[in-house]
Amino acid sequence: MSDTIFGKIISKEMPADIIYEDEHCMAFRDVNPQAPVHFLVVPLKPIARLQDISTGDEAVIGHVHTVITALADQEGIADAYRVVVNSGAAAGQSVFHLHFHVFGGRRMSWPPG
Ligand code: 5GP
Repeated sequence: MSDTIFGKIISKEMPADIIYEDEHCMAFRDVNPQAPVHFLVVPLKPIARLQDISTGDEAVIGHVHTVITALADQEGIADAYRVVVNSGAAAGQSVFHLHFHVFGGRRMSWPPG
């Protein structure tokens, strides 16, 4: 597992408000939410950045998206939500274990900052 905060959450060394887990991914609430609903969907595989995925990761990346839609239903935000991946420090990535932010429960503006 990656030596990051998210690796420690996945291995249960660190606590988190986990809302979903299966053999490929885990979802937990962001500790510093930027919307009324803000959770992270994280592949268990320690891929550092979106830019580091390979063809062998296609199934898990696709699976993450079906999990996102199911959790959007579960969290009551299916009508409108935003999915964000920050890939690289200059794009805002601070934890180098790939994760998909899911935001909902408020109106979103565009463009993002
Ligand atoms: P990034 O900046 O890498 O795109 O997103 C990292 C996210 O992880 C941030 O939104 C931050 O609030 C969240 N985060 C950082 N540390 C923890 C933690 O220990 N637990 C949880 N649940 N979220 C965290």
